[in-house]
Amino acid sequence: MSAMTATAMRTHTCGELRGEQVGRETTLCGWIESVRDHGGVAFVDLRDRYGKTQVVITPQIGAGRVFGSQSVWQVKGTVRERLEGTRNAALQTGEIEVEATHLVELNGSAPLPFDLSSDENLPDEEIRLQHRYLDLRRPEMQKRLALRHRVLQTIRSVLDRLGFWEIETPYLYKSTPEGAREFLVPCRAQPGTFYALPQSPQVFKQILQVAGTDRYMQIVRCFRDEDVRADRQPEFTQLDLEMSFVSEGDVQAVVEELLAEAFRAARGIEIRLPLPRLAYREAMDRYGSDKPDLRYGYELFDAGPWASGLAFRVLADPVAKGHRVLGLKIPAKRGASRKQIDDWTALARTAGAGGLLWVRRANALAEGPLAKHLHPSQAEALWKLAAAAEGDTLLLAAGPEGGVHHILDVLRRNLGASEAHADTFQCLWVTDFPLFARDAEGSIVSAHHPFTAPKDAPELKRSLTGDPMGVQARAYDLVINGSEVGGGSIRIHEPDTQKAVFAALGLTEERARAKFGFLLDALRFGAPPHGGIALGIDRLVALLAGTENIREVMAFPKTARGGCPTTGAPTPAEPSQLDALHIRTVPPSAPP
Ligand code: ASP
Repeated sequence: MSAMTATAMRTHTCGELRGEQVGRETTLCGWIESVRDHGGVAFVDLRDRYGKTQVVITPQIGAGRVFGSQSVWQVKGTVRERLEGTRNAALQTGEIEVEATHLVELNGSAPLPFDLSSDENLPDEEIRLQHRYLDLRRPEMQKRLALRHRVLQTIRSVLDRLGFWEIETPYLYKSTPEGAREFLVPCRAQPGTFYALPQSPQVFKQILQVAGTDRYMQIVRCFRDEDVRADRQPEFTQLDLEMSFVSEGDVQAVVEELLAEAFRAARGIEIRLPLPRLAYREAMDRYGSDKPDLRYGYELFDAGPWASGLAFRVLADPVAKGHRVLGLKIPAKRGASRKQIDDWTALARTAGAGGLLWVRRANALAEGPLAKHLHPSQAEALWKLAAAAEGDTLLLAAGPEGGVHHILDVLRRNLGASEAHADTFQCLWVTDFPLFARDAEGSIVSAHHPFTAPKDAPELKRSLTGDPMGVQARAYDLVINGSEVGGGSIRIHEPDTQKAVFAALGLTEERARAKFGFLLDALRFGAPPHGGIALGIDRLVALLAGTENIREVMAFPKTARGGCPTTGAPTPAEPSQLDALHIRTVPPSAPP
């Protein structure tokens, strides 16, 4: 008997009994998963979180009983060996069964809205979420909850060992509308004012470094009012950490250690350390992405200089106006049928391409729509550039920096999808990011967030009068299988540099003070050099669970439009609640 899980109502769990317990009395509690009637003797599978046990119910014991699906029972009985030929090696308890001597129905179950006994034929996600208590009862979902628990516990224990303190920071925070849209919470005691739910504890964790805590960690909920997608939720969980007196390598080493241990504990997988590092520029040029999936090849090649010498204006003109021409090679053994090329062209168009050009090396000549525009020497130069062998096909796209990278990234991911094993994990650091980016309107924004330190603070100050786009950041992202699992940086710890970055972002001194005066003040009182990172727990666990949908590893996720089908949230507030908050709602105006 396991002292840990035995209770006043049970001696064992449904996953616990083995051959050694044959002959023992036992009491189990669980849900009826299935019932098979063999000439009056019922064979019932009783399940709980730990597994399932076969219970044999003779007519004397079971007479007049109905074993409804998912009803809850307490079963007293004797453990007996299963007959030769009826053992189930696939089941942990498959050697034994329990012959019931006494049964108590603890609770019935209403007719089920869907079949829980199989992972096939699941209903729409909305129905699963509406009855999440049933959906989470399925072994597959319980496995995911267990995996998530194991990852979280491992992280906590590794960081505790490394001297981190778990410190909670407020959820009722101040509105600092710089990043994503925020959720606002009205403050009843000060009518007309609002808290914001934090997008991350970034500023608090920096203030905690000023406070001398040296190593902070928190597994924390973050809130961003963004549209729900497979890998995005309005509230999600981060492992947040921050350290004093560190450089990039110190933060990365801590993350590597906890990642290796989490992979080992959760999946028995060994990751080779240290993880590879790839500079942002190189990642973009080789893979078209700052979060490349390294489980497959398909590296890009730069066909710009080659294209600039062509008479074919579709390729030469873009280069002349400063655009890029990038290519991707499809080896002969993978093949590229007309139909596939049409599909890739359609895909490239959805990613923003005007079109896609292709050319194949066939019998040492060029074949395909581009062929007639190439002199043999130009074709030869292209084969050389792309290291193209006989039968290889080259896809080429032209476009502005960034845009054309995105197109090739989409193609590359599509090509690699069938070669990327879900159980292989390629983790890497992407480093040397630019400090700033431009948004859709052309304004300068932070590439990470405004507290990220520039590589070279004097250079930053110089470049503020010119173009700050060339300034590099002390930022790093953790990428696993083409997904950004974490991002962090060394932070600005001198108030002057922080003010300079706010200025570069177009924040007036007054606005910077109104928004972040508390941080600027804290930095004035002996802020230590510090840095940290945040990892997306939902994404990390989803990767470990082999799913792309983070909702599958969250107990109660939201659906599109921010709804919680389990509880029906959000709902209108009572008029009296709104009165107390001095708030009046206005119906949305009708769409034009
Ligand atoms: N606070 C950042 C984020 O949530 C992560 C970090 O820089 O530590 O993305």
